[in-house]
Amino acid sequence: MEFQEKLLFNNNFETKSNVDEAVHQLLLHQLENWELAKKNYTGLNSILERSFKYDGFEIKVQFNPERIRSSAAKVDQKSISERKCFLCSAHLPIEQKGLLYNNRFLILVNPFPIFSRHLTIPALQHRPQQIESDFISMLDLAESLNDYAIFYNGPKCGASAPDHFHFQAGNKGFLPIESEFKRIQSNKTNHTLKSKNGQICFINDYLRKLITIESADKVYISETFNSIYNTLKGFFPQEDEPLLNILAYKENEKFIIQIFPRQKHRPDQFYAEGEKQLLISPASVDFGGVFITPRKEDFDKITANDITDIFNQVSLDTNRFAELEQNMQSLKDFNNYNKKSII
Ligand SMILES: [Zn+2]
Repeated sequence: MEFQEKLLFNNNFETKSNVDEAVHQLLLHQLENWELAKKNYTGLNSILERSFKYDGFEIKVQFNPERIRSSAAKVDQKSISERKCFLCSAHLPIEQKGLLYNNRFLILVNPFPIFSRHLTIPALQHRPQQIESDFISMLDLAESLNDYAIFYNGPKCGASAPDHFHFQAGNKGFLPIESEFKRIQSNKTNHTLKSKNGQICFINDYLRKLITIESADKVYISETFNSIYNTLKGFFPQEDEPLLNILAYKENEKFIIQIFPRQKHRPDQFYAEGEKQLLISPASVDFGGVFITPRKEDFDKITANDITDIFNQVSLDTNRFAELEQNMQSLKDFNNYNKKSII
């Protein structure tokens, strides 16, 4: 099936067009015409949630059995090559409709939601999950979808389709990191790099390691992201892409980008057996402050210490994080770029 047959509207939505309204129409349409979506979005109303308080921030835990597909997804090459890609237009469920975005992406309703409004945004082409050349698309989406936070899961960082490039988006106001951000930034930042165009913060006292970029200038953000990406790539030359998760949203005319550099795909608890097992495969939503447990037993038994331990295992280690910080401070290109911008 050609992607044109999946479109709810015939037009292409561009960065500056009113995409929020069209997405609203898409959600209404899918909830009315797609039984699976209707069932799973209605099911969110009765979902169980717990909350753990830490020093100035919180982590929520959501029991969401439908997410087992994602948490336990087999993402090794053999398993991937043996299944039909579920993000290619040709294999989308018959009821699924979407919006064409910038002639390169389809905006779809995610039928297995975590958020009360949850989107999957695959590229039209079947190509690998690699952010480097498409980071700018993430900024475009954050600009177009005012009501949403956009997120990216690396191929070894929670993406259940590592073979097909995609973003996801969830309605704003759900992830604790959004409301905590200002406070965390002023209380927990151990280094800030400021320039006329924006600022970068390095935060290592938030259970997980976090680098934030704040700016209204897409060029500044892309340059900064590239520098961070290249330094991380140097740490993990054997990987196709350094392990990371990214959140991006717009607030008061500024983009807020939150990058979580990682060193591990899944924690030891994921592979443990019996009592010790916790089926948790952290991705952007977990790093944003909502741990997803697809099994009730894990939801019941997880502790604040387990969460600390899991973040410790999967986040970039402290020494490398410090090295990244130093690198960014001393990067000639980066400094030059900032100087140019100030002039
Ligand atoms: Zn595909």
